[in-house]
Amino acid sequence: MLVGPSGAGKSTWAAAHFRAAEVVSSDALRAVVGSGEHDLDASGDAFSLLDQVVAARLGRRLTVVVDTLGLDHARRADYLERGRSNGMPCVAVLFETPGAVCRERNSGRDRPVPSRVLGQQLAAMDSARSALASEGWDEVVTVTVEDQERDRAGAGTRVEPARRSRADGAGPEVVLQVSRFPWGQDPAGWLRSVALAAVEAGFGGIALMDHLIQIPQVDRAWEPIPEPWVTLGMLAGLGTELRLGTLVSPVTFRPAGVTAKAVATLDVLCGGRAFVGLGAGWWEREHLAFGVPFPPASRRLDLLEQSIETMRALWATGTKAYTGERVSLPETTAYPRPLGRPQVVVGGSGEVRTLRIAARQGDACNLPSDLDTVRHKAAVLAGHCEAAGRDPAEVAVTVLDVPVLGRDRDDTCRRVERLRGRTDAATYARRHHAGEAHQHARRYRELADHGVSTVFLALPDLEGPDDLERAAALLREL
Ligand code: GDP
Ligand code: MG
Repeated sequence: MLVGPSGAGKSTWAAAHFRAAEVVSSDALRAVVGSGEHDLDASGDAFSLLDQVVAARLGRRLTVVVDTLGLDHARRADYLERGRSNGMPCVAVLFETPGAVCRERNSGRDRPVPSRVLGQQLAAMDSARSALASEGWDEVVTVTVEDQERDRAGAGTRVEPARRSRADGAGPEVVLQVSRFPWGQDPAGWLRSVALAAVEAGFGGIALMDHLIQIPQVDRAWEPIPEPWVTLGMLAGLGTELRLGTLVSPVTFRPAGVTAKAVATLDVLCGGRAFVGLGAGWWEREHLAFGVPFPPASRRLDLLEQSIETMRALWATGTKAYTGERVSLPETTAYPRPLGRPQVVVGGSGEVRTLRIAARQGDACNLPSDLDTVRHKAAVLAGHCEAAGRDPAEVAVTVLDVPVLGRDRDDTCRRVERLRGRTDAATYARRHHAGEAHQHARRYRELADHGVSTVFLALPDLEGPDDLERAAALLREL
């Protein structure tokens, strides 16, 4: 809700900060239903249209910037109430443009507001200013003439990111998760170019999704989804310093020892930078289609425990027999040994079993990326660690983030519109944290402040290496 007299700079500010479709202006609507912006006889019709637009956008929880004088308390209260009832944050933007400046700008216009009217508006500003504080806005933002001049200078569309509070100054490690492979006629060339662009952008690694059929959350079932260990082997051949692994491999797909072999092989091929994400698996269809057994959940979680234990036994030095809590092996002859100590990232956030498995056996636990979930699940994880007598600091918290990452506000909205499918735009945007690089960077720093060491970033609209330029902008802000 903009609040300020004529000439205060409201419309100019709105255009500098919001998309045209997000701004609804009584002047512009006067021109739609009347003879022009200043056709005061058309005000009634213009405002009833304006009310409709505001109601419709708020009903869909879409941003709407009300560009009217905003000096009328009853009108403000009405819009505020409407925003509230739709669960939208409501912000008043107060234009503290000095009267003399408004008068000067006004007199320079084609159709100036009569001086007496402007005088009344300026007087109304004083009461609006004091009323706003008690009307119940989530926030009252003040725009000064200096702010407006800064917008003019071109720095205006960008809100300065809040400076990080962490002392060490380091953001989280960011690993590119590749979940779709629109590689056209040149799979190897596509993979190479994406990996090299990831290096260029500053990613710490690449994680590949491990599925037998492309999952509906990402793309259509007939889109390619390559076998990850073969693909990671190819990426290892590029000789980059990227960490390489899966996020995550269902333990149902391969006997644990065979996965241990794949990880160890990858590790020696990529200079000790291999990791493996492990989960219980969830998608029955791909198991049935490939003739892979899909036991009930409790059995799959047992398998997860056994798998981690088996893999660690086979990666250990020596060839001796292994007898553990859940697994016994007559020998552990497994060469090559991994160069390093491959990180085991447990995926899934079931609080009773999965997080407990991560606490007892994992090097890391991968969670969804919204902050409330991270806070809650990390606390549960820490509880399981303590119960198991393990220092919670030994189990890293990682997240999978699937952001809509736009170059600017317009680009972000276009991407949401293209990606949302049948989900409404506001819900999709919220779920995928739709925003620009600096907004995601701020979110990542906040995640890091809550103990997240690695963000696995998957672009839902990754087409090729050029898309990583957007990610590079994000990483530069960390
Ligand atoms: P509104 O009546 O509050 O919507 O104000 P406008 O945004 O239409 O601005 C009024 C006039 O002031 C227009 O002619 C703008 O071009 C001009 N204006 C807006 N912002 C600035 C500014 O930062 N500096 C200067 N010099 N003029 C401005
Ligand atoms: Mg205006």
